[in-house]
Amino acid sequence: MTLDIKRPEGVEAHVGIIGGSGIYDPGALEDPVEVRLHTPYGEPSDFIAVGKLGGVRVAFLPRHGRGHRIPPHMINYRANLWALKTLGVKWVLSVSAVGSLREDYKPGDLVVPDQFIDMTKNRRYTFFDGPVTVHVSMADPFCGDLSGKVYDTARNLGYSTHYGGTYICIEGPRFSTRAESRVWKEVFKADIIGMTLVPEVNLACELEMCYSTLAMVTDYDVWAEHPVTAGEVERIMKSNVEKARNIITRLVPRLAGDPDPEECSCCNALKHAVV
Ligand SMILES: [Zn+2]
Repeated sequence: MTLDIKRPEGVEAHVGIIGGSGIYDPGALEDPVEVRLHTPYGEPSDFIAVGKLGGVRVAFLPRHGRGHRIPPHMINYRANLWALKTLGVKWVLSVSAVGSLREDYKPGDLVVPDQFIDMTKNRRYTFFDGPVTVHVSMADPFCGDLSGKVYDTARNLGYSTHYGGTYICIEGPRFSTRAESRVWKEVFKADIIGMTLVPEVNLACELEMCYSTLAMVTDYDVWAEHPVTAGEVERIMKSNVEKARNIITRLVPRLAGDPDPEECSCCNALKHAVV
């Protein structure tokens, strides 16, 4: 199975960063260029900033568009992932703001999840709408190799970071009811909640890119008796931007090589998935 992917001439990237709420640039890119791509699936969320960090070519795409123009349910996830793939991206780090469903994942903490539950309702989940049918494995949805690197980069910077956890992805744009939040927490045993992981994670898999998420806790979801205030959320989101930049700056140079098929199965995800 090969996908018909044409790379634009003269521009390429090895690492893709998808920025979440509040993160509209990745920090100091060397020799940045703005790349506007059209894909068979439509337009990505915005132009892609391509440049270098520590000698490694990086493509940065803000998931919601610069200035947060696109709500989670309206994001063209397929165009975003396809665009990164056409640039030659092998590693995708996605950064996203999440709510916490457990006391010990505190606002301001970072989480590198290892599982997800999909409660979205109305998205385009695959590049394969027929006649070719593909069922990619999601048993271990995140790249273990990349996730490990993200985690220890964050830890080495001294940030309170948790490895592992289940991210429940809801449709949005509304938040959960208290009843829903209790179900996610107590029945589903999910740890963090957001609106954008799915279908980003499985589309990256269909394109055989290594994908990992850096989830930044901004608040306790509505299950908590004393929800954090809007002012606190704003302060935390500001400090998250700085944390994300510091992590990206130190992580990207560690991704200079290609993914190793011995370390993860991301780079040949389609091998056994085509029906
Ligand atoms: Zn991988």
